[in-house]
Amino acid sequence: MITGGCLCGGVQFSVTAFSSAIFKCHCSKCRKAFGGASSAAALVGSEDFRWVQGEEGVREFQTDSGFKRHFCPDCGSILPQYLAGNQLYWVPVGLLDSDPGIRLKQHIHVDSKAAWETLDAETRRFSEGFGSSPV
Ligand SMILES: [Zn+2]
Ligand SMILES: [Zn+2]
Repeated sequence: MITGGCLCGGVQFSVTAFSSAIFKCHCSKCRKAFGGASSAAALVGSEDFRWVQGEEGVREFQTDSGFKRHFCPDCGSILPQYLAGNQLYWVPVGLLDSDPGIRLKQHIHVDSKAAWETLDAETRRFSEGFGSSPV
């Protein structure tokens, strides 16, 4: 079991198995939300994810277009969120307390990546979302 949590430790969760490898999303919204070159996350089936502490305090921000991010009200860390349509949790892997065993396999929304970001040569790249044209 892998545990994770926010910067202040107020919100904590655990994962028993991952349903995907790690992917980085370079879209403009993820870059803003993370304050970096991309988001880095993996997917977890709802039966493999559990909130341990602080779930009731999690805040949600939603843009006009419907893009949502959940965050800790005390420290601002981005937090996992449930993707109801897929019955999966989207879990930012920087929150994990130890090596989850899975590795980075895909870059998505590469057409939107920051001009200053350099991508590794081995990882699969997609122009937009999963299943879009490889770059
Ligand atoms: Zn926090
Ligand atoms: Zn994104």
